[in-house]
Amino acid sequence: MSPIALSPALQNLKPSATLAAAAKAKELKSKGVNVLDFTLGEPDFITPANVREAAIAAMNAGHTHYTPSGGIPELKQAVCNAYLRDYGLQFKPNQVLISNGAKHSIHNVIASLCGPGDEVIIPAPYWVSYSALVELAGAIPVLVNTTEASGFCMSAEQFVNAITPKTRLLMLNNPSNPTGSTYPVAQLEALARVAVEKNLLVLSDEIYEKLIYPPTEFRCFASFGPEVAARTIIVSGVSKAYAMTGWRIGWTIGPVEVIKAMDNLQSQETSNPCSISQYAAVEALNGPQESVEAMRVEFEKRRNYVMERMRPWRAKYGITFAEPGGAFYAFFNVSSCFGKQLPGGIKVDNATDFCTALLEKGHVALVTGDAFGAPGYVRLSFATSLELLKAGLDAIESFLG
Ligand code: PMP
Ligand code: GLU
Repeated sequence: MSPIALSPALQNLKPSATLAAAAKAKELKSKGVNVLDFTLGEPDFITPANVREAAIAAMNAGHTHYTPSGGIPELKQAVCNAYLRDYGLQFKPNQVLISNGAKHSIHNVIASLCGPGDEVIIPAPYWVSYSALVELAGAIPVLVNTTEASGFCMSAEQFVNAITPKTRLLMLNNPSNPTGSTYPVAQLEALARVAVEKNLLVLSDEIYEKLIYPPTEFRCFASFGPEVAARTIIVSGVSKAYAMTGWRIGWTIGPVEVIKAMDNLQSQETSNPCSISQYAAVEALNGPQESVEAMRVEFEKRRNYVMERMRPWRAKYGITFAEPGGAFYAFFNVSSCFGKQLPGGIKVDNATDFCTALLEKGHVALVTGDAFGAPGYVRLSFATSLELLKAGLDAIESFLG
């Protein structure tokens, strides 16, 4: 008999579907296949030079030791300064916790607030790790389906209807991964009013806050007044805005009691996030911000190019989608292709089949919407060069044809 028995929580835990799709594409590439890879949502730019230099300076200055588990005071202060500068919002450093990437921040929030039987409201489509992290805590994800027609935004009425006495938290992602949707300010405020009225906490994942395409306007969830701020836990970080995915720095801003509990948890689980990365993040936030806008402009060009190429697909192939107002994803419905038989006996009955067939026949890697609670959809990350996008969209088009 095997001595190995996994904990009940881990027995059903699947690997992150985005990371798994990226690994599959990489594996094919290593076998010599020229895969056009649009799986992973991470900026293709190298971290700005001033930030890289700050990291080298931090190492040379001997910042190579443990730091306080919840982050260095300079970085907490830099986060506060950034929210004041960018949104006019005033936070104190004791409302900030620095963690190992925004994914870790989300884990900390859920692990600190939710236990067995608690319900967490998640508008679907949602980012893969949301439901997994909720289930890991023994809590129950309550999915609220949104539609393309509503721009994948949950209405206040849908929110109210999902609330039960067991509801602990709403998890909101604005702008959204995987849809790129952004909440209209009035609709966001309506959700905030419900949270106040029902006295609920909201985890607002704003990791794509700097990747916004006009005329879209971004509003921080905590900006709707003190009674909303008192119920908001903001999650964000440097990964997307400063092209720093590998450095693993995210943060949480929220009520002091929650931050304290998360700091306790972090001190037992991981200790501090990488000391060098923290100093680099201080420079990212305090230093010149031009590179953020320069990268955003590049993402906007790519977004516009992808949309121009995809718009004719509606009439030609019955593909539907809502145009992204933020982030770097195109999310489209390919169910018009279902029920088709391809040469070689390949059948396409769902979005996962579509992705498998597209990878095999067209050597293009996308992520299935099944992973995001959105059957029928697929996700393309356009955080990659225009050249690669052109080749990929050509290949998808000839596959669709
Ligand atoms: N939230 C969302 C919606 C994301 O797309 C990501 C990126 N994977 C994260 C959180 C996590 O970001 P990080 O890389 O900082 O952990
Ligand atoms: N946010 C990225 C994505 O969704 C990174 C992958 C991950 O962390 O799961 O592709």
